[in-house]
Amino acid sequence: MNLEEIIATVERVLRVGLTVITAYLVALWIASIWWTFRDIRSRSTDLFLQVAATLLVTIFSFAGLLIYVILRPTKTLSQLYEESLEEEAFLQGIQVQSACPVCKQRAEPDFIFCPWCQTRLKRICGRCEQPMMLRWKACPFCGQAVPSPAAMVDSSMTGAGELPLTGIRR
Ligand SMILES: [Zn+2]
Ligand SMILES: [Zn+2]
Repeated sequence: MNLEEIIATVERVLRVGLTVITAYLVALWIASIWWTFRDIRSRSTDLFLQVAATLLVTIFSFAGLLIYVILRPTKTLSQLYEESLEEEAFLQGIQVQSACPVCKQRAEPDFIFCPWCQTRLKRICGRCEQPMMLRWKACPFCGQAVPSPAAMVDSSMTGAGELPLTGIRR
C-alpha cells in the first residue's frame, strides 16, 4: 500500500464520517423546528408569535432554539386555563360557600363547626350569640370585642384548634 492509497482511504473515511455527521445534524435541526412549532402552539394562539418562533429556530438552528427556550412563554395554554379555573373556584368559594381548611369538605357559610372533622370554622359572639368569622376582631352585630386568643382557648375551644379561614388556599 503506497502513500497515495493511504491518503485516498483516509479521504473516503472522512467523507463518510462527514456525511453521517451532517445527516445527524440536519435530522436534529428538523426535529428542533418541529418541536418548537408544537411547543409554541401549546403556549400561544398568536399566529405572529408562532411563525416568529419557528422561523427563529429554522434560521439560527440550535442557537435559535436556545434563545427560544429562554424567551418562550413560561406557561402553556392548558396551564393558564387550569389556573383560571382554580381562581374562579377560589372566588366562588369565598362568595357562596367555604370549604373546611382541614378536610376540604364543603362547609356552609353559617356552619360553626365542620360537620366532617369537627374543626371550628367560626366562633359565637359572647354577647349576642351571632356567628363570627374567626379572624374578626369584634362582633359585627353588637360590637362586642373579641377576647384575646389566650382567653379564648380556655373559654370556648372544644378540643379543635383555631384555624383561620384565611388559610383555605395560598
Ligand atoms: Zn373539616
Ligand atoms: Zn355580638
